[in-house]
Amino acid sequence: MFLWRLLANRIPVDVKLQWRGISLASKCKCCEKPGVETRLHLFVNGSATRRVWQHLARWFPQVPVFDEEGENIELRLKWWQRNMGIRSQHHLCVIIPCLILWHIWTERNENVHRDKNFEVEDIIKRVNSQLRNLVLTKLIGQDQWKGCCPMLDVVIDTCGGARKRKVGRVEWRPPDPLWVKLNVDGAFIQATQNAGGGGIVRNHEGEILVAFATGFKCRSGLEA
Ligand SMILES: [Zn+2]
Repeated sequence: MFLWRLLANRIPVDVKLQWRGISLASKCKCCEKPGVETRLHLFVNGSATRRVWQHLARWFPQVPVFDEEGENIELRLKWWQRNMGIRSQHHLCVIIPCLILWHIWTERNENVHRDKNFEVEDIIKRVNSQLRNLVLTKLIGQDQWKGCCPMLDVVIDTCGGARKRKVGRVEWRPPDPLWVKLNVDGAFIQATQNAGGGGIVRNHEGEILVAFATGFKCRSGLEA
């Protein structure tokens, strides 16, 4: 929905609000020396957004550097996909641009509405962490990063085969007095596609205060 609005120029960046007749002085949130916040500046051509795109471009080292100016938002969105000659809409060369655009927008809004500093590193972190979660929950698989140069530990591990297992002692420790502790867990059986989970709340003496369990639908143990 966000991308559709973005491509249709319906995202309320400063210049869009001015166009709608709201009087405000535009000051972009992404640059040290603020410029005018247009859609293209915030998402493609500004120095901050360029750093985000350049960082994630390491996934696609075979693709030429993007240096197009002007009305280039669709070009930017499809640059990696076109240059890799990939048709699938589920490939990472399609997914990563969508995540970048979305997280630039959320970072910009955190700045406008919650006074958070606009940080390129935070955008990259959030894109990476969302990718990591998608891989761990198996919503993204090997087919989807074919031809990429993976830049995430979880993806590299999945490609590299079996991981070394560490053995360690795990024990339950009670919370401090006046506190309670909630432990939760979930399980998933591939063969039957059954899943369930539950939780237990205990006090500092280890006494059970509440416990619950339920079945639900999901696609992996981690998601459960
Ligand atoms: Zn800027």
